[in-house]
Amino acid sequence: MLVGGAANGVFGVAEQLIISVSGMRGIVGENLTASIATDYGCAFGTFLKNRHTDKKEKLSVCIGRDSRPSGQMLKSAVTEGLCKVGVDVIDLGIVTTPGAGIMVRELACSGGVVVTASHNPAQYNGIKLLLDNGIAPPPAAAEQIKRCFFDKHFELVDSLDSGGVTSNDQTDSTHITKVLAIVDKETIGGRKFNVVLDSVNGAGGRVTKKLLAELGCVVSAINDEPTGVFAHAPEPRAENLTGLCEAVKTGRAEIGFAQDPDADRLAIVDEAGTYIGEEYTLALAAKYIFSKWHGHLGRVFTGWKPVPQAATNLSTSRMLDDVAEEAGGQVVRTAVGEANVAKAMLEHNCIIGGEGNGGVIDLRVSPVRDSLVGIALVLQLMAETQKTVSELVSEIGGYYMSKDKFAAGKSQARQILESAKETFTDAKLDTTDGCRFDFDDGWLHLRASNTEPVMRIIVEAKDQLAAQKYIDAVSNIRKKIPG
Ligand code: MG
Repeated sequence: MLVGGAANGVFGVAEQLIISVSGMRGIVGENLTASIATDYGCAFGTFLKNRHTDKKEKLSVCIGRDSRPSGQMLKSAVTEGLCKVGVDVIDLGIVTTPGAGIMVRELACSGGVVVTASHNPAQYNGIKLLLDNGIAPPPAAAEQIKRCFFDKHFELVDSLDSGGVTSNDQTDSTHITKVLAIVDKETIGGRKFNVVLDSVNGAGGRVTKKLLAELGCVVSAINDEPTGVFAHAPEPRAENLTGLCEAVKTGRAEIGFAQDPDADRLAIVDEAGTYIGEEYTLALAAKYIFSKWHGHLGRVFTGWKPVPQAATNLSTSRMLDDVAEEAGGQVVRTAVGEANVAKAMLEHNCIIGGEGNGGVIDLRVSPVRDSLVGIALVLQLMAETQKTVSELVSEIGGYYMSKDKFAAGKSQARQILESAKETFTDAKLDTTDGCRFDFDDGWLHLRASNTEPVMRIIVEAKDQLAAQKYIDAVSNIRKKIPG
């Protein structure tokens, strides 16, 4: 992952434009401009042409955007870049990130682009890249794209070979069809669930309301206009969802769903109007999927031999392990990053996967985190078990989790990790991404951020007291290692 900024002369503002495996993110008009977006389109198109030299016909890339007001401008700019290097563009309009991921494969495109800054505030936007499998480029490919962007070694074409633009409005219907295929519409429909949906005026409102209607739900939608004028801070965390909690309570709803602006993350509010925490989204979805493992999972795809395994990153709650273990299954842990989880799911034929931030992946739909998948699986679980959200949450149980970060340069971070290894000698250690120490009563994950000079510390334990023991131990290590 690389951070470009004033130092490399591309732009001269304090806030940095971040270029990572999943694309580019910055502040519109400051470090993310139309000309930068056009260059990025040229770079991605050039990369794809070199990757698909076997293809005789012109390559195509589908492009969608979330609802941010700057989305149209940036989408046009990326489109211009792709056309300049001779790549055809299929414009999907305002769509969710999982929807765009589905269409890359559905339309047999060589790549996909989503103009979104996900859960970041409205002044941000970003350009997310997908390869033909619907997954973000692996690190080596991302490095090539980044290098091409900075070097401006674009394979421009002449007028006759320029790319063209067509439109496609089938994303929502294709997405809904795929999600309905993994649940039993009749069982869910029979319950006529009373649901509140908060789409934060992002891209998810329209398609999710349609899905919920197909599932026979009585829906009260708030912030469902795709204006990109976010009704509250867009990350689906407790402090931003007081309106949803209140609406669930006053509407006597059975469940409340909150999406982030590009609808790949899902948070849940229970029937009492209590935010249950994003870590439960994946745990609940997995609880349903693992319960079906001994029976029949329904739709599968060619070449997929599902096994009772889930995949998630090293920072995700142990609740997933508990759910898997109850069904005789296992969890594969990966480095942080959606693409890492998706890759592990494909390699290990996992039946479910995702991240603790409310991102659920079911390969039968696509290898992308998908709030619609999360919604469908949780409703199916409620319908089949006839249990409320709070009952299901208490069945899963819970832990105390603390997520924090602190300033640490590269060398300091390295020393902290080494010292932690010497301190926690009784723990099971995983060094795939920083250090994760597993203890009997909890775990600790320490990792350096890829985008800023900070270390993240995630601790989960049976209670706060047990967690504090590990947090204090890390504080003591930090005191001995100067910045
Ligand atoms: Mg998102």
